Amino acid sequence: MKLVLASGNAGKLAEFRQLFADLDLDFHPQSEFGVDDVEETGLSFVENALLKARHAARISGLPALADDSGLCVDALDGAPGLYSARYAGSHGNDGANTTKLLHALRDVPDERRTARFVCVLALLRHAEDPQPIIAQGTWEGRILHAPRGEHGFGYDPVFLVPDFGLSAAELTAADKHRHSHRGQAMARLHELLQSR
Ligand code: IMP
Repeated sequence: MKLVLASGNAGKLAEFRQLFADLDLDFHPQSEFGVDDVEETGLSFVENALLKARHAARISGLPALADDSGLCVDALDGAPGLYSARYAGSHGNDGANTTKLLHALRDVPDERRTARFVCVLALLRHAEDPQPIIAQGTWEGRILHAPRGEHGFGYDPVFLVPDFGLSAAELTAADKHRHSHRGQAMARLHELLQSR
């Protein structure tokens, strides 16, 4: 089955192609069909993933898969949440976002620095599909007081993974994928599709 990945990220495309190869899913980037980025106006990860998938399905005329992800910090009532990528402003980059997060948590003690990464995948068979297939993954951790590690991206250097005693940026890509919110959501989607 040919389907669109509603993302412009080449790394994600390669990952999806690899993980779903056995299910005969043929992923194509949305750019191939002239799909632009849609405004992410939802108030939850699920809503935003659906908005992106629906937009891609509508324009391409093909089934579409979209993901939405972010970091939710308990002491900040779930922020940066949906706004993880642009926490430090529309020009926010990983460094600025992380600095802003550490500043917001400067007086918060270790036991209240709990947080989780969330990833939602939404698959629509067509733009009006009333039964989207939704897979979620979460990854529990704690926000460190300073960045550690060189791998990964985004908030990885300040996200402590308690089982390893390491930051997400200190894990190898393979270890991160095995445990991360995204790895779990992809595995769950694979399960859901396999059982159909
Ligand atoms: P997107 O859903 O790929 O646009 O990601 C949203 C934002 O959430 C990213 O820009 C990062 O700031 C953050 N984020 C999502 N997943 C991860 C991760 O695995 N590590 C670090 N940051 C992440």
